[in-house]
Formats: sequence, structure tokens, C-alpha cells
Amino acid sequence: MMTFALSKGRIFDESLPLLKSAGLQPRESPESSRRLILETQRADLRLLIVRASDVPTYVQYGAADLGIAGSDVLAEQGSEGLVQPVDLRIAKCRMSVAVPDGLDYQAMVQRGARIRVASKYVQIAKTHFAAKGMHIDLIKLYGSMELAPLVGLADVIVDLVSTGGTLKANGLKEVEKISDVSARLIVNQAALKTRPEQLRPLMDALARAALKG
Ligand code: ADP
Ligand code: MG
Repeated sequence: MMTFALSKGRIFDESLPLLKSAGLQPRESPESSRRLILETQRADLRLLIVRASDVPTYVQYGAADLGIAGSDVLAEQGSEGLVQPVDLRIAKCRMSVAVPDGLDYQAMVQRGARIRVASKYVQIAKTHFAAKGMHIDLIKLYGSMELAPLVGLADVIVDLVSTGGTLKANGLKEVEKISDVSARLIVNQAALKTRPEQLRPLMDALARAALKG
């Protein structure tokens, strides 16, 4: 039996076509089902439906053999015990610094001002500003980061941006890209070592599906 961890929402929607072309189809839709373990049309493969940021944890501990996780989540949480064989090139966006429209970010940086940064991605933010030699106060949030600068909770935010529509709607602008983000296939390292004959064909099929786009 192989176990595959997936999150609902964005990543799931974009993963489905890839899973399908790799010969893997859930028997019921996770959007309509309340089940957290879904059978697939393959007797030797089941899906776990977990929170996007929990996917690496399930795979790291071997509760799932494989999973699909955003590179943002992997960068934030680390990827010990994981193999990342395939960039699936889906759920693409970027990790960026954003500030209120009227704020001169470059001037703040040059002045060496101490800034307050709100983000769900505290490790990524810490590393980014440390590399710039900037001193920051970090405020951990769990969502709706765009709100923080509007009400004086923070000067800048670090968040995912795709179209920029949400930033714009809230009077913010993107001032610095930290990294490109996309979803990655992740595999438990120990499972791959002990059961390569079981896992490799599925990994290869997903790699081929990702290349076809
Ligand atoms: P959750 O709200 O549980 O974190 P989402 O479905 O909103 O789950 O996002 C999961 C993943 O989707 C992110 O970790 C990221 O890898 C990817 N993603 C792609 N584009 C975006 C975007 N514009 N905003 C947020 N997440 C995005
Ligand atoms: Mg979300």
C-alpha cells in the first residue's frame, strides 16, 4: 500500500490533472466528501487529505509515503527526511515583500530603519532580512497578512503573490521578490530506500505528467 498526502484547494485543483495523467484518480471528490482518507481506483494507493502546511509533516514521519507541497511551506518548515524529486510546476506564485502604496521602502532600507514585518512565513522573512543586514521585529500571523500594514500592526508584510490583485485591493504594492514558488512532489526518504520498486514508477509517471504540463 502507498499513501499520498494532498491538501484541498489550490494545490489539489492543479494536482488532479497531473495525478490523472499518472494513472491515479480518487474514487470520490475531496471537495464533496468529508472523508480524510480517500480510496483511488488503484487498490495499492490511497490519498490523505490534510492541511497544506501539514503535508511535509505527514511525509516526514512516514504516515504518508508521498505528497505534494508548496516550496513556500518546504522553505519555511525545512525538508529533513524528504526527497524532492520533481518540481510539478503548478500552483505557481512568488514570495514577496509588500508595503503600503505611499511607503518608500528603498529609503527605509537605506536609512537602516528597524522595521516591523508581519508574516505567516517567519523563517523565510528572518533569513531574507538578515541577508540584507536589516534589523526587524517579526509578528507571526496565520492569514490575511494584507491587513497588518493598514492598521499599523506592521510596516511591511512577507506573503505569497500571484496576480497582485489582493495587494492592490488593499492599497499595497510589491517591492521585493524573495523567491519563486511552485508545488513539489515530496517523498519519504526511508520509504524510497526500502520500497523503490513501489514508489519509483509513480514518481516517474508524475515527473512525465509535469513535463507535459
Ligand atoms: P492554506 O490556506 O491552507 O494555506 P491554500 O490552498 O490557500 O491553503 O494554499 C496552499 C498553497 O498554495 C500555498 O502554500 C502555496 O504553495 C500555493 N499557492 C499558489 N498560489 C498562491 C497564492 N496566490 N496565495 C496563496 N497560496 C498560493
Ligand atoms: Mg489560503
